[in-house]
Amino acid sequence: CGIVGYVGGQSALDVVIAGLKRLEYRGYDSAGVAVLADGGLAADKKAGKLANLEKALADHPLPTGHTGIGHTRWATHGGPTDANAHPHLDNAGRVAVVHNGIIENFAALRAELSERGHTLVSETDTEVVTHLLAEQFSQVPDLAEAMRQVCRRLDGAFTLVAVHADAPDVVVGARRNSPLVVGVGDGENFLASDVAAFIAHTREAVELGQDQVVELRREGVTVTDFDGNPAEVREYHVDWDASA
Ligand code: GLU
Repeated sequence: CGIVGYVGGQSALDVVIAGLKRLEYRGYDSAGVAVLADGGLAADKKAGKLANLEKALADHPLPTGHTGIGHTRWATHGGPTDANAHPHLDNAGRVAVVHNGIIENFAALRAELSERGHTLVSETDTEVVTHLLAEQFSQVPDLAEAMRQVCRRLDGAFTLVAVHADAPDVVVGARRNSPLVVGVGDGENFLASDVAAFIAHTREAVELGQDQVVELRREGVTVTDFDGNPAEVREYHVDWDASA
């Protein structure tokens, strides 16, 4: 439902939670976050309002990191439980994925992954993406390329945003039939399903086109199609009133 990603000098968790709050008007049933810190990945997710997640984070704080993602979920596959909330992690706990939309061919992919020894722990369509991404990254240690390879196998509508503990300072996003916008900052960059999430930080935005993948680093943003061909990036200025 709502997606936020961040890489830069600020606490990723603070930016992501504040961004998710700006998207609260959309309605959701669960919320979750993941940050890269100390060479690892730390995540938490809770059914219910963002306040439930914030309380859990206050009780069990995550380490401070500068790369992170967050999600508010509107369940389509699997009920609103902690386990079905996003992000979804791979079995090694190194990769985290958040998703808006529906992966139509998830059942076939799920069967294939189970056969290869993956343990899927949720009822969502989303979780297959996490495992496929972990597999691809282990062969090609480039998160954007791994994401492109995974996207070519997916049917349906999706905005996907992911981080990997072995790709520090990188957030990757992809979209098909579902919105994803880049917020371009100075030494920091943002990803969100809606500009409202990052308008407090920057008004320079790039709208991703259909079937595109974006790689976000502190110093810049790279956009390609699903085959890796560079895409033309058109920056625009968001001039509507953020307080509205
Ligand atoms: N289909 C996914 C799920 O049910 C994503 C839902 C959403 O767009 O929030 O978990």
